[in-house]
Amino acid sequence: MKFTLNCSLIFSKGLEGVDIQGLLRESSAVLAKGAPRGEGARIARSELKDNRLDLMITSGRYARPHDAVFRLKNFLSEKLGRKYRVGIREIRADRYRIEFDVEREPKKKISMPFAKRIEFDGKRCVLELQNLDHEFLRGNYVDRMINLINEKIEKQHYEGKGEHWELIWQSKPKEPVWNKDPSREMERRGWIMHRGRGQWIFGPVVTKIMRTMEDIVVEKLLNPLNFDEVIIPKAVTWDVWKRSGHAKNLYGEIYYLCPPRSRDPGFWEEVTDIYKITGEIPEKLIKEKIRGPIGGMCYAQCPPFWPYLEGKTIADESLPIKIFDRSGTSMRYESGGIHGIERVDEFHRVEIVWIGYPDQVKKLHGEIVEHYRKIFNEILDLEWRMAWVTPWFMAQEGLTGFDEKKEVGTIDFEAYLPYKGSREESEWLEFQNASNNGDKYPKGFNVKSQGREQLHSGCTGIGLERWIVAFLAQKGLDPENWPSGFRKRLGELPPEIKFL
Ligand code: ATP
Ligand code: ZN
Ligand code: MG
Repeated sequence: MKFTLNCSLIFSKGLEGVDIQGLLRESSAVLAKGAPRGEGARIARSELKDNRLDLMITSGRYARPHDAVFRLKNFLSEKLGRKYRVGIREIRADRYRIEFDVEREPKKKISMPFAKRIEFDGKRCVLELQNLDHEFLRGNYVDRMINLINEKIEKQHYEGKGEHWELIWQSKPKEPVWNKDPSREMERRGWIMHRGRGQWIFGPVVTKIMRTMEDIVVEKLLNPLNFDEVIIPKAVTWDVWKRSGHAKNLYGEIYYLCPPRSRDPGFWEEVTDIYKITGEIPEKLIKEKIRGPIGGMCYAQCPPFWPYLEGKTIADESLPIKIFDRSGTSMRYESGGIHGIERVDEFHRVEIVWIGYPDQVKKLHGEIVEHYRKIFNEILDLEWRMAWVTPWFMAQEGLTGFDEKKEVGTIDFEAYLPYKGSREESEWLEFQNASNNGDKYPKGFNVKSQGREQLHSGCTGIGLERWIVAFLAQKGLDPENWPSGFRKRLGELPPEIKFL
């Protein structure tokens, strides 16, 4: 690594009579501190012009110039302040050149905000930045940019491969009752109705089916394992996603949350007037009257629970914490991906979260999977499978290494959809997952244990629309063909609403 920073220190007044070269020589020990001998930052050039000291600071891997310049600032402030009553008013950098080796060769061009130039020669990268202020240098942006370059290259190598997928278990094939698309059939019968984009109204029949599935989750999983219900907010502010890590990649799927600039009716009078006259919503005008997004609608259910624990130490007697939420919908902008009720913009999910010491979390993960297995085999009688997957975000968080032990990571539950084609060739539906998230959340939200050991956590999201699709795609719409364990819990279906 080779860092070259051209920067200037601006003093509160001219430095007449100060032996600046002497001071700079004296500062070399401070600049090199912590680095192996001869490898710390050093001042390669310096020139004093009135109250401005222009410097060229270079370094290898250690004591990088953007740190060194602040060490120098402190050093000079002390020396000059006391004796000459001169302060340092400002630090700015005209140019910062960083030459370093990336982990892998990029496959294509990389864009990078703040970079004036970014060039590669094999694994050698030259990054050039210009006109940097105090905040940029101080905030470690440079280190983050180097990490981001490596991350982007890594992503290029990942592209197309999707996630790492490894089969863990598969049920026996089950003879499906039919091979139709249940969404289409339910729509035809008026059980469900498409509204807006990716949003459905569930009529009484399908609602009863969904609630029965929820009841099964409560009876067969949540009660036996002693999970308690909580209510988690569904409007999520940025602070949550910053801590959960979602702020690193969600943007294309968020439904944004924009509060009004004022609730004063007078402020909105023009909007209401225009609507009353034209019958149209004046969207452009509304846009001027709302604030920028303060966050978005619930994407994953568990992150907005974590502020409840943030900064706290959890008593051992409360561990493992076992909670679940079913208090509202999740929303994702799925764009073109919408299909039937299995991929919708607004969906219903039961989210189950557990937090404890690593063995507690691992043990619960296993128990939950076993309870699911019973539900899918004995009550829903599904043809399904489990796969160990490593999602991209985990790879990004640098957690992939853990997954060799199959402890931290995600199990996807997938169901065969006969209407999509053969078992071998068609895409199965991920109808839920169960993750051991390791220390990601406790660390992100600074949640501590009473003991020395780092807390871990896990979560599993039961996508109810997807359960319905998996079940009905295999079992058809006629309760006669449904497994008895399910029918027993369902009771009678309510009558369909007839349309003339
Ligand atoms: P997919 O790959 O199908 O988009 P995902 O990986 O984005 O799913 P997760 O973020 O793991 O899904 O969400 C957990 C669960 O939430 C899924 O297993 C599924 O049951 C449900 N889910 C996610 N997105 C949707 C959606 N658009 N419509 C209905 N259910 C969904
Ligand atoms: Zn979760
Ligand atoms: Mg998705």
